[in-house]
Amino acid sequence: MKALDELTFDNRFARLGDAFSTHVLPEPLDEPRLVVASKAAMALLDLDPAVAQTPVFAELFGGHKLWAEAEPRAMVYSGHQFGGYTPQLGDGRGLLLGEVYNEAGEHWDLHLKGAGMTPYSRMGDGRAVLRSSIREFLASEALHALGIPTSRALCVIGSSTPVWREKQERGAMVLRLAHSHIRFGHFEYFYYTKKPEQQAELAEHVLNLHYPECREQPEPYLAMFREIVERNAEMIAKWQAYGFCHGVMNTDNMSILGITFDFGPFAFLDDFDAHFICNHSDHEGRYSFSNQVPIGQWNLSALAQALTPFISVDALKETLGLYLPLYQAHYLDLMRRRLGLTTAEDDDQQLVERLLKLMQNSGVDYTLFFRRLGDESAALAVTRLRDDFVDLAGFDAWAEQYKARVARDGDYTQEQRRERMHAVNPLYILRNYLAQNAIAAAESGDYSEVRRLHEVLTRPFEEQAGMEQYAQRPPDWGKHLEISCSS
Ligand code: AMP
Ligand code: MG
Repeated sequence: MKALDELTFDNRFARLGDAFSTHVLPEPLDEPRLVVASKAAMALLDLDPAVAQTPVFAELFGGHKLWAEAEPRAMVYSGHQFGGYTPQLGDGRGLLLGEVYNEAGEHWDLHLKGAGMTPYSRMGDGRAVLRSSIREFLASEALHALGIPTSRALCVIGSSTPVWREKQERGAMVLRLAHSHIRFGHFEYFYYTKKPEQQAELAEHVLNLHYPECREQPEPYLAMFREIVERNAEMIAKWQAYGFCHGVMNTDNMSILGITFDFGPFAFLDDFDAHFICNHSDHEGRYSFSNQVPIGQWNLSALAQALTPFISVDALKETLGLYLPLYQAHYLDLMRRRLGLTTAEDDDQQLVERLLKLMQNSGVDYTLFFRRLGDESAALAVTRLRDDFVDLAGFDAWAEQYKARVARDGDYTQEQRRERMHAVNPLYILRNYLAQNAIAAAESGDYSEVRRLHEVLTRPFEEQAGMEQYAQRPPDWGKHLEISCSS
């Protein structure tokens, strides 16, 4: 266990130099205070959880203090936003403070979001508000607990600094951890600004640091791209299986590591709705729930375009072709497990699709349906769940198909079925209304609800005593919350 001043830095990205990032110091928040910290994320840095309670913790992550070995940098990148190319983006309000390596030999980027203006702030103020910082914190840690690859969050620091959005709010900072903060948009930036040398340097950097096993392949860059395609297919399969809607899948928000990244107006589905749009500025539904799958491929092809200096177009196209079949295989595998199935049959895809259509028509809660399905034998569970459906004949037909499928699947006890299903079907997810309750309390200075919700979400599959209120469908007011994309 380390104290805060015992972290070891090795700032590999900073060493790439000024073509890649600019030195900027964090702009401190007034009266910084700890809102919430993640013990699990602190453990990634070998940090003693007790240090979160010390004043220096809030000073460090509220922009007041800096380690001598930290080298805060704003990274430059570009990207496709809602399908159109924006030539220059970059860290407009976040800083890569440095890279820390832990006792296990892993490097973790420390990225402070909301740290003030940078050369890439454009019209923005460089700040992040408490509301969006809490949402990013909770989402990162909740996705991780569900087994979905994601950046992590160490803490949220609140303050009295006024920040103007639709109304006056308070500034906050979230400390994000990831093995890298390099995005698809980094490659696009050097490609479209026609800087082949720097682009090659970036590609070498990513290959050596993050995909070293691809070095052994005959075409290392192609192998790396293939790995990125595979990781994205798997990540998006998990989003779809668990009802996560990212909301802003611009290529500047897509990590080169295939992890969920840059949280804005994201949402987990309450009622199943394939057409759900969580970002209320997304008028055309480009990033609707079901569109996430083709958009994943669209984003990978934008990356492929930027990699054309290194890899032949034919090879890129062939590799892109792997995305959809890989996605489908992962998705079906997860959905089979959510249904309690241990074997594979050809009709399983259709079994899943039929169920989702019925859920869609009746507005059935996506999380609770699967949880309850595992509570009892298939026959009993479908009898109890039947009442949630409007199309009873349709549900009965599906239930017969499901029971027959379960009977063919294998011989196991109800205990085994429950245990297996509950291990993949969460009871607690980060519903928007739960986040909203925690944010409202935090905005009035009470951080206990954010902390409690975070605790519950770190063990989503385990029934926790006294936490029934976190496993409920949203009340009427919480069903259609409009999550502002301002953050
Ligand atoms: P996002 O929508 O958060 O992914 O951000 C898109 C781009 O806008 C990135 O370059 C951000 O750094 C920048 N940005 C977002 N909010 C702000 C802000 N308040 N101040 C400065 N830049 C911002
Ligand atoms: Mg972003």
